[in-house]
Amino acid sequence: MSDAQATKSFERYSHVGVAVDPIHVGTGGARLGRVDNTIVRDPATKLPKIPGSSLAGVLRTYVAMAEENGRNQTQRSKPYYPDCAGQGQKREGDTGGHCGQPSCKVCTVFGFARGKDSAGGFAGLAAFSDMHLLLFPVATREGPVWVTSPGALRAARIDHKIDDENKVYRRNGQGQGLNLGWLLLDGGNLTDDGVEGGLRKLRVPNFILDRVALVSDKLFSHVVNSNLEVRTSVAIDPSTGGAEEGALFTYEALPRSSVLCWEVICRFPGHFRIGKDQIAAVKNPEEVHEVVRKAHAYLEALGIGGMGTRGMGRLKVLDASSGTAAQSQEAEAGGMA
Ligand SMILES: [Zn+2]
Repeated sequence: MSDAQATKSFERYSHVGVAVDPIHVGTGGARLGRVDNTIVRDPATKLPKIPGSSLAGVLRTYVAMAEENGRNQTQRSKPYYPDCAGQGQKREGDTGGHCGQPSCKVCTVFGFARGKDSAGGFAGLAAFSDMHLLLFPVATREGPVWVTSPGALRAARIDHKIDDENKVYRRNGQGQGLNLGWLLLDGGNLTDDGVEGGLRKLRVPNFILDRVALVSDKLFSHVVNSNLEVRTSVAIDPSTGGAEEGALFTYEALPRSSVLCWEVICRFPGHFRIGKDQIAAVKNPEEVHEVVRKAHAYLEALGIGGMGTRGMGRLKVLDASSGTAAQSQEAEAGGMA
């Protein structure tokens, strides 16, 4: 495929979200060091991340909820696409599973494993990157700062290099040493407006922009991993409602007000077919993105990752262009909770 065709084939949308609660996207229970329930990390950088597959799964569920909610308000007949929300495994007797219809917003945008009459699956018109840590809140003697690094900024397509691997760079930070948690660092000046400008373009709010601190990738990994939230909790025995004996466990999470960034690639529907049929649910990449965005209000209300019952996982997507739509969806999501 030539470049000219490729640019027409998809649109890329950048998103940034702020953790309203601590967020725990777990590795599935492996015990590592002192923590029972660890979060997913990038194998190369050792930084916590949320896999794109987790994001896609959660957004799929919420879009299906939004679709279902919209339908309920207009007519109260049987659901159109009752089994399109989850993983799409068929039940015994070959019922259920993703509908796989070209008119289904959930199945066309998020894909499905196997179509009707056991036809081939479809990868989906939206593709999701991993959610990367962009800005990480750390306690300092001057109050909280949000730490980032050249590598973290690169994931948000902001280019910046630093001179001294052992300094913490802030606006007017020259000579102003600063502790990041237990770590005390010499201060350097963050003079490049590109960092702030780039973050502002991604809708990072002012109270964070005012308190950005930049360190090397190596230090960033150290700072993040030594300042994660580690909580201790007790497993509850459902039969008694009391604490299970010996059931004390710890888990780690991204702290509240961590800022994550991710990208959504939305493909041009006209370039794909489901079986022999043209896709009817969406017409262009913008409409694909509109479908994805329906989930954002739900992400803020219901969250992502585990421990949701312990008040974790809510994420506010910072997306100024979705203002009015998000508000009406918020009302819907609020009504459901
Ligand atoms: Zn479907």
